[in-house]
Amino acid sequence: NPLARARYLLAAHTFRQLPSDGGFEVAFAGRSNAGKSSALNALCQQNALARVSKTPGRTQQLVFFDVTPPGIDPAAAPAQARYLVDLPGYGYAKVPQDLQAHWQQFIDGYFGSRQALRGLVVVMDIRHPLKDYDRQMLGYAVRRGLPAHALLTKADKLGRGAQGNALLAVRKELSSAFGDTVSVQTFSGESRLGVEQARTVVAGWLQL
Ligand code: GDP
Repeated sequence: NPLARARYLLAAHTFRQLPSDGGFEVAFAGRSNAGKSSALNALCQQNALARVSKTPGRTQQLVFFDVTPPGIDPAAAPAQARYLVDLPGYGYAKVPQDLQAHWQQFIDGYFGSRQALRGLVVVMDIRHPLKDYDRQMLGYAVRRGLPAHALLTKADKLGRGAQGNALLAVRKELSSAFGDTVSVQTFSGESRLGVEQARTVVAGWLQL
């Protein structure tokens, strides 16, 4: 598993703090509490890579995890750099408006201009999919011509039949809203359902 070598690299809250824009990266987005940290941990086979409990207000940053192949220094060979990027969870009512505006601008700019960005994973609770934020993030990716992949997480909370129904309903909505550049699967960090499938998508985008 090439994602198992993921190591925390840095957290950026301004453009200047982003690592050099030469390689490949995949961004992860999700509403607060959707299960994004758990999904990252499961994909990378690590217990505490992305902290599972986070504090509102400390969330306005892009966290980079390095998955560059061994023996390559991404600073010396930026084209070989491979990153996973944890986008801040949104959905905290308590974030002040000016911070929200700053964040919006930052994320707009990131999606608009980041050359290294090769794909977006949107993590959604299978019981509450396709909220405004999810659609906004998917819209960013699709407008850039980037592929996106949706994880319907916490699938273990539903029975098999309900999982299948949710998957079909979301797939149908995604294809009518965004066309065929967005794929979707069921997922559970808890039961490990779909972990391998999601890993294959991410590693493929990163050419790992
Ligand atoms: P984040 O805010 O999106 O990073 O969400 P977390 O990964 O911190 O998860 C939020 C809550 O949902 C935590 O209590 C997790 O234990 C729980 N959770 C996350 N993934 C799963 C899952 O696949 N199944 C179940 N049953 N609970 C999950």
